[in-house]
Amino acid sequence: MINFDETEAEKILRQTVRDFAEREIRPYARTWDEEERFPHELVPKLAALGLWGLRVPEAYGGAEMTTEEQAIVVEELCRVDGSVGITVASHNGLCTGHILLAGNEEQKRRWLPRLASGQALGAWGLTEPSSGSDAAGARTRAVRKPGQPDRWIINGSKTFITQGSVGSICVVMAVTSPEKKQHGLTAFVVEKGTPGFSVGKHIEKMGLHASDTVELSFVDVEVPDENRLGELDHGFLDTLEILDRGRIAIGAMALGLGAGALEQAIRYAKERRQFGRPLSDNQAIQFMLADSATELDAARLLIRRAAWMKDHGMRTTRESSMAKLWAAQAAMRACDRAVQIHGGYGYTREFPVERALRDCKLCEIGEGTNEVQRMVIAREILGRG
Ligand SMILES: Cc1cc2nc3c(=O)[nH]c(=O)nc-3n(C[C@H](O)[C@H](O)[C@H](O)COP(=O)(O)OP(=O)(O)OC[C@H]3O[C@@H](n4cnc5c(N)ncnc54)[C@H](O)[C@@H]3O)c2cc1C
Repeated sequence: MINFDETEAEKILRQTVRDFAEREIRPYARTWDEEERFPHELVPKLAALGLWGLRVPEAYGGAEMTTEEQAIVVEELCRVDGSVGITVASHNGLCTGHILLAGNEEQKRRWLPRLASGQALGAWGLTEPSSGSDAAGARTRAVRKPGQPDRWIINGSKTFITQGSVGSICVVMAVTSPEKKQHGLTAFVVEKGTPGFSVGKHIEKMGLHASDTVELSFVDVEVPDENRLGELDHGFLDTLEILDRGRIAIGAMALGLGAGALEQAIRYAKERRQFGRPLSDNQAIQFMLADSATELDAARLLIRRAAWMKDHGMRTTRESSMAKLWAAQAAMRACDRAVQIHGGYGYTREFPVERALRDCKLCEIGEGTNEVQRMVIAREILGRG
């Protein structure tokens, strides 16, 4: 049975990550955002907590956490800073998650210890300039090298790739059987320094300024068949499985951002006085806070259900999309209300709620937009999955 109470281990994990985020992230988050700089100095500190190998088995140097524990980590990081949260979520969920899911023993031994220790950061490239929601539009091609069928040549480009420039292990999806559309995609690991693999433009974003987002280019990049992850033409099916878990993490990211903004709004509403009394004495303000608290609690329950089901080996396509869709929307509303409650000060960079609002918008877009989540949920409830 699903338990609404967190276990002792989960409570300790939450407190540990919260203390870390307050100490090591909060004092610097505004500066990182303004400088639009990836906080390299944080990498070893996150490694000391085991946050680069959340679900990686101990045998490969990981923390071997459950999906529920992973959600707690991402939520607590995002309560203070979305950029650090998405970095940890995507490194663990996408790149490392793909190797965990589809890698063979030799591949796991080769890449997981470096990823789990933070020695190498991971990137994951599916999106292309002309293919976002619709993976069938992917143009990056992988063909067998003429005369050397155990080697591949990759050509193409990817965009919006998180950790694309700071990462050194990249899982990239390439078309191997064009006639099969999205079911003709295969995943390959391409390491930094491979000739022909380069970083393009750094993408200037609305929020998540301290998260690295870039274009990647592949020109005659040659990799051996040992770098192919999973079965040939199985990249898209593996991706769907990875996104089922990844969407729980993005839901947790939204929840953290929304919960952090709500806390700030409660504090400000109690402190700020207008018309001779605290803002929090006005029912209009109380109702905004009550709506945010209620909607975020519902998000937490949806996330916990999806994570619990995942940890019990169940299929969570519908539940993961519901959790992400609801959490992203609830958190956007909570951040917007938090800015409103701060009035003019909420519109300044002096208070962290404007950053939370900017960061939060990504949760309605990344790993499938709100519309894509609704398409997934509709397919599931109509029995067309
Ligand atoms: C900060 C950031 C980090 C990212 N990190 C990564 C990463 O690490 N790796 C990676 O591979 N990708 C990454 N992405 C890409 C992200 O997953 C895509 O942006 C997202 O999937 C949407 O694709 P798109 O931007 O091409 O939008 P489009 O697919 O062009 O969609 C545009 C709009 O049309 C809507 N739409 C599209 N099709 C339909 C339809 N059939 N019905 C109704 N509405 C529709 C969408 O919902 C959206 O509102 C990242 C994006 C951002 C912004």
